[in-house]
This record gives sequence, C-alpha cells and structure tokens, in this order.
Amino acid sequence: MPPEESGRHAPLNLSPEEFRRVGHALVDRIADFLTRLPDRRVAPAASTREIRAALGADEALPEDGLDSGALIDRAADLIFEHSLFNGHPRFWGYITSSAAPIGALGDLLAAAVNPNVGSAMLAPIATEIESQSVRWIAELIGFSASAGGILTSGGNMANFTCLVAARKAVLGWDVRAGGLRGEGSTPVALYASKEAHTWVEKAADMFGFGTSAVRWIDVDRKRRMKTDALVDAIADDRRRGCQPFLLVGTAGTVGTGAVDPIRRLAAIAREHDLWFHVDGAYGGFAAAAEDVPDDLRALGLADSIAVDPHKWLYAPLEAGCALVRDPEALGNAFRYRPAYYNFDETAVNYVDLGVQNSRGFRALKVWLGLRQAGRDGVVRMISDDIALAESLFSLLDRHPDVEARTRNLSITTFRYVPSELRPRAGDPAVEGYLNTLNRAVLSAIESGGEMFLSNAVIDGVFLLRACIVNFRTTSADVRAVPEILSAIGERLDRELRPDGLKRPT
Ligand SMILES: *Cc1c(COP(=O)(O)O)cnc(C)c1O
Repeated sequence: MPPEESGRHAPLNLSPEEFRRVGHALVDRIADFLTRLPDRRVAPAASTREIRAALGADEALPEDGLDSGALIDRAADLIFEHSLFNGHPRFWGYITSSAAPIGALGDLLAAAVNPNVGSAMLAPIATEIESQSVRWIAELIGFSASAGGILTSGGNMANFTCLVAARKAVLGWDVRAGGLRGEGSTPVALYASKEAHTWVEKAADMFGFGTSAVRWIDVDRKRRMKTDALVDAIADDRRRGCQPFLLVGTAGTVGTGAVDPIRRLAAIAREHDLWFHVDGAYGGFAAAAEDVPDDLRALGLADSIAVDPHKWLYAPLEAGCALVRDPEALGNAFRYRPAYYNFDETAVNYVDLGVQNSRGFRALKVWLGLRQAGRDGVVRMISDDIALAESLFSLLDRHPDVEARTRNLSITTFRYVPSELRPRAGDPAVEGYLNTLNRAVLSAIESGGEMFLSNAVIDGVFLLRACIVNFRTTSADVRAVPEILSAIGERLDRELRPDGLKRPT
C-alpha cells in the first residue's frame, strides 16, 4: 500500500523540532568535549577487545530502529570514550592535524544541504565555493592563480590526480585509448627520491606503470634528492630506450620534513622534457610562511602540485587538493561525455576534472577555515608550529639522555640514548639495542596517553618523531616532552638492557 498523502512515515526522517532538540544537545556535548580535551589521554586506554565489546561489534543489524536522541548520545559516548584524539594539544604523530571547529560546523551545513559537487547544475554555489577555495590555495602557496585544480579526499588522491594529468599531457601517444602499451608506446620511467611518500609506488602500481618504473633517487645528508644522481638516472634511461616522463619533488618529506631542491629540479625537468610534479601534501602550505627553506618559494615552477588542507590548513578529514599549471590538463585527462550527463558545458563540472563522479561538499570546510583565519591567520599558525618544533629540538638537544637528530619545518626527530651509552653510539651492538629500546619507548609513549609521537628510520636508525601541525599545542606542552620521554626511557632501559651492555659493577 502506498503511504498516506499526508504524513508518510519515513524512519530516517526527523521533524524540525526533533532535529533542533537533538542537534542542540549534540553541539553542547561537542563543546564540552573540546573544553576537556587537554585534560584527557591522547590515546584511548581500552584495548581493541574492550572497544569491540563496548560497541557490540558482533551483533547483527537489529530489526527495530532507535530514537534519534538516544542514538546520537550513544554514538557520542562511544566516540568520545574510545578515540585517539588528534585534536589533543599533545598529539604529534604522523601528519594529522588538529581540526578547526569551524570545519565541523561546515560539514554539518554541507551535509544538511547535500549538494552533489560533480556538476555546477547540481551544486551551483558549492561549485563556486570549491573554485574559489582552489584559487585561494594556489595563491597562498605561490602557484599560478590561473591554475586548474580540484579538491580530493587527501594527499594520495591529489597526487594520483596530478599523475594522471601528467600521463595524458606528456606521453607521445594516445594513452587514454591505447593504454600504456598503445600504438607508438615506449617504456617509461618516473623519478622520486628515496624519501618520497609511498603514494608513488601505489600510483605506479595502480595506473599500470608498475613499481619497477620508479627510479628511487639517492638523498644527501639532509635527506634531499641528489640532483647529480637524478641526471645520471635520466641519461641511463634514455640510453636504454626508456622515456623519462615524470619527476616528483617533495616539499616536506613525510619522514623528516626535508624540502627537495625544487628550483634545480624544475630546471632539470625543463631541460629533459619531464612533467615536474611537487608533492606538497605536508609542506606545501608552509610556502606562505617566512623563515622556511627558500625552495618553498619556487612551487610556482611546478607543472602540478598536491597539497593537503587536512594537514597544514587544519581542515577536518578529508580534504586534499590537486593543482595543475595548465588549467586544461585535468579536463584533458578525465573528461567523458556520456549521454546521461545533461550538464552545462560552459560551467565548471568537477566530474570532468578528477576521479569521482558524485562528490560531496568538502570545499565548505576548507573555504570556512581559509576565510576565518585569512592569510595572516594561516601563516601565523604554521609559523607557530615551526617555532614550537625548533624549541622542542633545542630542549631535546640539551638533554643528556636524548640525541636530537633533525628539525625541518615542524618535524623533529630524536632518540633516547642513556648517557652512559652515548660514547659507544655507532657500535653495532649498541645501535641494535638502541633501536630495540626506542621501539619500546615509542610503544610505551603511544599507549601511555600522555602524548603521541610516531617514528622515522634514518640510515637504519630508529628515531622518535614529533610533527606539530596543531594549533592547540603550547610551549608548556613542548616543555613537558623531555621529562615524559626520560621517565619512560629510564624505566625501559632498566628492563631491557642486555647484560653485555651494562656497566661493570
Ligand atoms: C600525508 C602525505 C601524503 C598522503 O596524503 P594523505 O592525505 O594521507 O592521503 C603524501 N605525501 C606526503 C609528503 C605526505 O606527507
């Protein structure tokens, strides 16, 4: 029987009164959560088993629905209780930022109206907001304001999008129709440093080049691509009849924050007819700040660049951005014209510029963040993160039981080295033990809940790594690090040090 004309009962609908009541209560709970965040553990105390039990992970989908207010309350309880809080002032793991609260409101607003930002017709204002966000991002990092671009789910997708644009633009045969083995094809090679992010191999694999097409170029002592090794590798490939096609520079490596010699790489790419792509997922936005490596001023020389608003623009996950200097490059790589698209061809239809078909309004949270902070506000937050990283490095450098290793942008690497073992660093037995010890220190820090770090491995040395992309971190938080680290380090060193490395008594 069809529903009554007046008053269909749709179990997912909410009356405006109910939405108001449940929504207001949720906003209050979120505000309380944000207030108490600094007093909480960074990582949850419960084990995976306990978390599954709290959720009832094994239960089948119940037949009957639930009341919205009670349900939202239960969801909030679960999530506030059992999450790792990257918005905590002492979260410095990986590269995940504290999220701007205005972004959360933006996501609520975006979901409420729910435009499909695949086409301008389906999302008139949202399309314009995305275009403006893309242009603001390009201007912020010193990329051409006439660039083409699109927001993506993150840095990986932004890098993939640029690679597909490059493939269409550079390869000398019809790669969209014929594929990599199409008529007139040659084997191709792409170049990235050994410190480049793993998206490079994922992309080489997914887009059919194969990971063996990637030439992993050596880095110098500062973890920057060695340009003479790059030039040699290009010459080698040419000699073997392999077409050099894409050069990937990294503006802020995921391990240590190193910035490749972007100017020099741009010149080499131009000389050898390579598409020059910059992975700026971490460091791209730092180009707007002062006192950063000069090579960040040269991002405008790239053919394409990937940046990540959900990193150093503090947008809530997910938001990445692909930019291409030639505004036609994305459309040339992605556009199709099926009969069932009835779109205005003169408008921007984002379905033509990237991988997705239906697209959410992720631009709103990015646009709100940019507009709330303004250029000055963004620069200030990034510069403060870098200044905090510098002060962390110098605090650790002065500590007798810590070896501070690197500091680039807002990433600091270091390890716990009992002072008594310091003179013996380099001895293979000592180094082996220090790797074991620091792995254990990292696990204890991560599960301890006082702060959250991740790791880097440099030349076989296991290091702890703090990456500050967190507008909630203060200098008091940074000053607390040495004490937390040495308490955990001393305890584990007592437990773990093998007899052979103990001081003779
Ligand atoms: C984070 C990061 C990526 C991947 O970005 P996601 O947003 O995690 O997909 C790629 N490259 C670099 C240098 C990164 O720091």
